[in-house]
Amino acid sequence: MSILRQLIAIIALFALATSASGQSASIMGFAPKSAAAQQALEKRFDALISAESARTFHRYFTSEPHPAGTEQNKKVAEYIADTWKKQGLEDVVIRQYDVLSSLPKEVSLEMVSPKPFKASLREDAYDVDPDSKNPALRGAWLSMSASGEVTAPVVYAHSGNPEDYEVLRKAGIDVKGKIVLVRYSNPYSYRGFKALTAQRMGAVGILIYSDPAETGFKRGEVFPNGPWGPESYIQRGAITYDFIVPGDPLTPGWASLPGAKRIDVSQAQSLPKIMAIPLSWRDAKPLLDNMGGPQAPKDWQGGLPITYRFGGEARVHMKVDLDTRVMPYYNVEARIHGSEHPEQFVVLGNHHDAWEYGGVDPSSGTASMMEMTRAFGQLFKDGVRPRRTLVFCSWDGEEVGLTGSTEWGEQFESDLRKNAIAYINVDSSASGPNFSGSAVGSLAPMLLELTRGLTDPATGASLHDAWLKYETKERAQDKSATPVTDANLVDVRIGSGSDHTVFLNFDGVSVIGLQFDGPYGVYHSAYDDFYWMNHFGDPGYKYHALMSQLWADAALRLANADVFPFDVENYARNIREFVLEVQKKPGATENVDLKPLLESIASLASAGVTLNASIAATLKSANTSGVNQLNSGLLQVERNWLLPDGIPGRPWFKHSLYAARYTYAHLELPGLTEAVEKGDWATAKAQGKLLQDAVAKNTALLISLNATIQAKAPTQAAMH
Ligand SMILES: [Zn+2]
Repeated sequence: MSILRQLIAIIALFALATSASGQSASIMGFAPKSAAAQQALEKRFDALISAESARTFHRYFTSEPHPAGTEQNKKVAEYIADTWKKQGLEDVVIRQYDVLSSLPKEVSLEMVSPKPFKASLREDAYDVDPDSKNPALRGAWLSMSASGEVTAPVVYAHSGNPEDYEVLRKAGIDVKGKIVLVRYSNPYSYRGFKALTAQRMGAVGILIYSDPAETGFKRGEVFPNGPWGPESYIQRGAITYDFIVPGDPLTPGWASLPGAKRIDVSQAQSLPKIMAIPLSWRDAKPLLDNMGGPQAPKDWQGGLPITYRFGGEARVHMKVDLDTRVMPYYNVEARIHGSEHPEQFVVLGNHHDAWEYGGVDPSSGTASMMEMTRAFGQLFKDGVRPRRTLVFCSWDGEEVGLTGSTEWGEQFESDLRKNAIAYINVDSSASGPNFSGSAVGSLAPMLLELTRGLTDPATGASLHDAWLKYETKERAQDKSATPVTDANLVDVRIGSGSDHTVFLNFDGVSVIGLQFDGPYGVYHSAYDDFYWMNHFGDPGYKYHALMSQLWADAALRLANADVFPFDVENYARNIREFVLEVQKKPGATENVDLKPLLESIASLASAGVTLNASIAATLKSANTSGVNQLNSGLLQVERNWLLPDGIPGRPWFKHSLYAARYTYAHLELPGLTEAVEKGDWATAKAQGKLLQDAVAKNTALLISLNATIQAKAPTQAAMH
């Protein structure tokens, strides 16, 4: 070893020692001694994770198409259960729910005039990717579409959002009795909302196609040469109106167990009444080419070399025949029981149903989960148990209506409200290297802290630094965006569209969401497969592995903490921002007095500051008396945001801070915000008051929790 190398080695050692001691001095929620043990445990866990092993799991999950309700997806559930047993997890069980679901029988689309054309509704096979030739692959279909048959003129309605129909109306075009052709994702909105909007406008059918401007050649190289969608790429999906009520449409608000009460199909609010088919751009182009009518506005023009018109001249015949009936779905569940407080638990969830192979969505997440549980099983065999219980859940039917998780969250509502610490969701784990982390306001600081201790495989920087750098670059493109700092790096605006929904919005459980993103133009298609992942998404499976580590470490911190790492002061800061945003909406300041609400939030923030200081002092003194009561109380904070009657018009959504718009987009202070946007000032006032009451309830809770630890530790109180 040269002198220089020796010197570098010494410096490196020194850096390692200081960073390790610097870290162990503080992990949120841990006394110094237990922080050191926790860090050692996380290191030990992380060292067990293998990218190669994650790849092996991924190959299994991407070997056959497995949509919810199919025999193949039942096999996937059984494989997960068997593997968890072999890995050494406890209480492995498959839970069956009988839910309304659909599978395709026959879907067809033809143009009848001005010239005949039959849509292929299939994706091309490529020699380099044998999986693209699998005869088990299905063609174009949208789950929960109505079945039927109709011939009608076609109108182009851009993205199919209400404002688009307003443009058509102004141009004198009525879509009543017609079929609308809309495109995905410009701007993003959930396809179910496009279907509901078309249904409300009186359209008799909706065709949703993938324009190359959003997901195809306008973005870059297409599959199999690049990550973007080729000409025959089809985005499948469901159009269930689960933004009104998710889960089985026939058991809204309760679990679809054998013998459960079921409402009549005609009463089901989340069931679409319109026929819908997804199209590749290759199948949409002849329609767009022959639409006729006036030229559509500039921002309606897509990536195809044609003039996009409003249409009205072309007529098409569409037929949708789905097998829609009650079918069994299978969630898989396993545990590692806690050593000290087994009744309290952290839930780690991912769905296993996929539109075809689900290379990214969800098989990347499922592979990360199985690799994570393999390492947990190993630790467990070596005698390591977390202090509190870990519950692993592999959901079925997420793609159809967030179904498996919703039924489970409804079935175990009372236990979740009493004992759940948090739910950590990973849907897709990796379509690229860019981290995206979300959490409720109280868990954002803990998530941020966690990313400092992990390494980004591509750059060798900490995950935190890689994340900050990427977000800074992203937000630089938007001049109106606030600069990225640690205070706003975690996304605390949580919408819907994945399995966290029931936990947050129905059960009042704090949630975290984790994902790595990249250029990804094959979402919900046959090309979202093993080949895609190995060539574009995560060829070395290093981000799959990093997800296994991050996910587990987050769960271990929550399960092992001396005091749960909830930061209510931070939560209050976020809520204040949400209120200030509502205040900026037209008419808000003149018609609703939000000052009392802001004052109550200030009290919550100050109670949060005091409690955080007391917790820090308690942890430092390692005096654990009063801590159990404090921890149970901290879980109550999230529950206190629930409104017994839910938000106006959507009683299933009970959280007063969080819900989703019909597009799935995040919606903060939903009751208040929606009332203000409608100019319904009486409701806005009532909702503002409900929020104020919930804030006051949590302020009182924090004050009493603070008194609990102060009373138990009088010497610390005297130190302040
Ligand atoms: Zn998914």
